[in-house]
Amino acid sequence: MAPRYTQDSIERTREAVDMVELVSTRTELRRVGSRWVGLCPFHDERTPSFSVDAERKLYNCFGCGVGGDAITFVRELEALDFPDAVEALAERYHVELKREREDPEEEERRRRRERLLALLERAANFYATYLHESSEARRAREYLAERGLSAEVLRAFRVGYSPKAWDRLLVGAQRDGFKPEELLGAGLVQRSRSGGLLDRFRGRIMFPLADARGRVLGFGARAMRDEQGAKYINTSESDIYHKGRQLFGIDRARSAAAKAGRIVVVEGYTDVLALHQAGIEETVAIMGTALTQDQLGELSRAAGREGTVFLAFDADRSGQEAMLRAARIAEDRDLELRVVRMPAGKDPAELVAAEGVEAVVDRLASALSMLEFAVGRALEDEDLETPVGRDRALGRVRELIAAAPERSARRDHLVRLVADRLDVPVDYVIATVGRPAAGAESPVVPGPEQRATSPPAVARLDAEGVFLALCAAAGKAGESYLSRVSDSHLSSGMLRRARDHLIGHPGDPLADLPGDDHELATLLTALAVQADSLEAPGEGRLHTDFLHLDKRRIERELRHARADGDFARQGELAAALQQVRRELDTAMGQDS
Ligand SMILES: [Zn+2]
Repeated sequence: MAPRYTQDSIERTREAVDMVELVSTRTELRRVGSRWVGLCPFHDERTPSFSVDAERKLYNCFGCGVGGDAITFVRELEALDFPDAVEALAERYHVELKREREDPEEEERRRRRERLLALLERAANFYATYLHESSEARRAREYLAERGLSAEVLRAFRVGYSPKAWDRLLVGAQRDGFKPEELLGAGLVQRSRSGGLLDRFRGRIMFPLADARGRVLGFGARAMRDEQGAKYINTSESDIYHKGRQLFGIDRARSAAAKAGRIVVVEGYTDVLALHQAGIEETVAIMGTALTQDQLGELSRAAGREGTVFLAFDADRSGQEAMLRAARIAEDRDLELRVVRMPAGKDPAELVAAEGVEAVVDRLASALSMLEFAVGRALEDEDLETPVGRDRALGRVRELIAAAPERSARRDHLVRLVADRLDVPVDYVIATVGRPAAGAESPVVPGPEQRATSPPAVARLDAEGVFLALCAAAGKAGESYLSRVSDSHLSSGMLRRARDHLIGHPGDPLADLPGDDHELATLLTALAVQADSLEAPGEGRLHTDFLHLDKRRIERELRHARADGDFARQGELAAALQQVRRELDTAMGQDS
């Protein structure tokens, strides 16, 4: 139960806030008349439209329309809920909070919870100190150093080590006044077969699992020796610790995620540490579980409105399956999921170690939409040359299609895509998976805003591919637009080569198909098929779609610039983005 603070407490907190000081932690303010102004921390801009009224302790932005008081400011920028935002402010400005009168039972529960949190906090400190200072933890330190992790990042995440002895934590905590019942409740000790108590975690590297505000709720623990049993164990489920809600690193990733408008989800603890150390601080891990609704909710709060969640799971089967499951449960949410394709046999930490952070940044930039990924996956495994294989593939994509909202352009597009890829009539797919969207008889061209997908993962016909197809269908006008498509407009080398091929073969995309490059040939075929199904677009359509393409390029480069901390470049790109948005508004006949 979230605590309820008295109205008086909340008012006193609002009063105590120094609004200029608070906002200045996020953006530089200068005094103009009676107000303080600066660049808006909620949207990208070059000239300040954000202002603070220090007297009334309010902020607002006439650029993006946000506004509110200190509590909304912290809620929005730190992705906290109301009570947490109040607590954070009260702590910062030294206000003592009073709770609404609770019933005794409720109060008892809260007190117990506070005791357990204090105990977990104590345990985290104990393990962290033990890692850095004991000789017993030398091998653990070596292991972490071999993974390229600095002492600094280990301390930031309070990574620790649990002694091998049976009861070091038990004895120490009892000396500090904690009862055995509390140690059991916090999941730090367990009963032996003879009924005695012993430490749950022994001889393991300890990763504290904290909530969004940094309160330790439990631990993930990695074995150092083979004979220790399970390589990873966690705190068992309790009143405090729920595995399905936990995201490792969320407390440290939150503000970076809010700023970047994205959050990256990896599988392992050390992946979070490695990416954080490399500057991609908006990274969290799920720990060997399927992504849950609770976790998705937390991710979406952290990434903010219009934020994107990037899944960078292992290339092995279980990682891939985990991403498909995530897609299914994210279906009803207004949340953009992208899939980062990882090299086989390498996790993000290893990728950073081997190829540097740029390799990860590039992969983030060329991440697949969930639909592209899911369909590509389902079709990849089956032998599409045989009827049996095609039926099996159809069986597999069925679920994906069923998960897309009925009567949506997305679902419709997916049906078409699968029919195309399996080389069966659209009706056949429809009959197998259910009815498509209304008006699906005429070929639907995915608009640039749709996350269009196409054939196999290698020959993805996403918005970029669709634009190339559109150019191919547009004759002379298309040729001139093709020449304006630069390398940076296209997120893969394959699409760039396809563009070059189209430029070299005006009016006949299938001429001189490369015999030795199956991927390119497949992509060109997909482009030609798409182009063939299109009405020759007019100049207006080409212009608008090109602007969309350009907008995505700028957004991508902006993300890079942010990741690099290149402020000058961010400024240029933000201006370019504004410009292209204006042009788009004009092109689409809207007033901005
Ligand atoms: Zn703004």
